[in-house]
Amino acid sequence: MTDPAADPLIARMRPFGTTIFAEMSALAARTGAVNLGQGFPDTDGPQEMLDAAVSAIHSGYNQYPPGPGQPVLRQAIADHQRRFWGLEYDPDGEVLVTAGATEAIAASILALCESGDEVVCFEPYYDSYAASIALAGAVRRPVTLRAGEDGYSFDPDELRAAFGPRTRLLLLNTPHNPTGKVFTREELALIAELCAEHDVTALCDEVYEHLVFDGEHLPLAAFPGMRDRTLQISSAGKTFSCTGWKVGWVCGPARLVSAVLRVKQFLTFVNAGPFQPAVAVALALPDSYYTGFRAELLAKRDALSAGLAKAGFGVLPAEGTYFVTADIRPLGGVDGLDFCRSLPERSGVVAVPAQVFYDDQSAGRHLIRFAYCKRPEVLTEAVNRLAG
Ligand SMILES: *Cc1c(COP(=O)(O)O)cnc(C)c1O
Repeated sequence: MTDPAADPLIARMRPFGTTIFAEMSALAARTGAVNLGQGFPDTDGPQEMLDAAVSAIHSGYNQYPPGPGQPVLRQAIADHQRRFWGLEYDPDGEVLVTAGATEAIAASILALCESGDEVVCFEPYYDSYAASIALAGAVRRPVTLRAGEDGYSFDPDELRAAFGPRTRLLLLNTPHNPTGKVFTREELALIAELCAEHDVTALCDEVYEHLVFDGEHLPLAAFPGMRDRTLQISSAGKTFSCTGWKVGWVCGPARLVSAVLRVKQFLTFVNAGPFQPAVAVALALPDSYYTGFRAELLAKRDALSAGLAKAGFGVLPAEGTYFVTADIRPLGGVDGLDFCRSLPERSGVVAVPAQVFYDDQSAGRHLIRFAYCKRPEVLTEAVNRLAG
């Protein structure tokens, strides 16, 4: 007899409880705190894109789109890749539209990893990575990004040692959530060299490709020899402030993209019918949209970083993304989780502890993450509360 009280969840998913965002957002709601925990914008995206979605709903885009995505969107993704990164992808066969970047990541890992295969990834990592790797029955091999005066870096020898005979994928996120790190040319060159040496496929999550404030965004796929072993993933959610639309994509050589499509067709099959042509409109917006959006976020980063420093946190450099991380030790903090649980009561602001994004929790115990993709008056209120 099976025990009805026993957890019916498969063993390999049991380590994944409800996410920290659920706990912290509930705390924000209960205490009335300003929620700088979860990374979603509190304004809508470009008007042209919103109008295009409304018009698509009224003009017959409400049924299943083609499995790989609407042709107009695949073409717009390919054009965007060429325009910003000089990368050429054939919209027929090398571009696949997915239910957000999250599905692109999950479908890629499920498509390419046999049970027991290893995935090298940098920690702290975006929370879906570990769960998708576990779903595939694969094994994660984290390499730690350590916080120092100049920001986050990894030990090249540690990365080298993480590669082995079972390594199937290298999972890279740049610009990086939660640290705000933008990987440098030198770091990427080493990653590319190791992928080639070990015949490993790179899976690159570049959802913050347009949000780099210091340095520059360098797609790994553009490094010599990498285009044909790289799946490059992005999404409309972060670039066009429409995280609820869940329109993402993956680009790469046809043999890899078709493998991902084989899995993806049995996950969601397709999604976001009327939003697909609207995202095509957004991707084709003039440079002024992209530079304006970046300038807005940069001002927000600077405002929040200055406020955190004034409140006494050790503020780490945030070169890109929506996020800035802060060291709680100058304020007498020891454990980020405890600190974040009491911050709403003490200061009326919600942040998330970085340690939940690490396997090696000691590396992130003193760090917490704030999101600044919020309206200026929300950030001002948060900064005022933290100063009090
Ligand atoms: C937000 C985010 C995603 C998820 O993107 P969706 O398009 O909403 O699925 C993936 N990776 C990182 C690093 C993110 O911050």
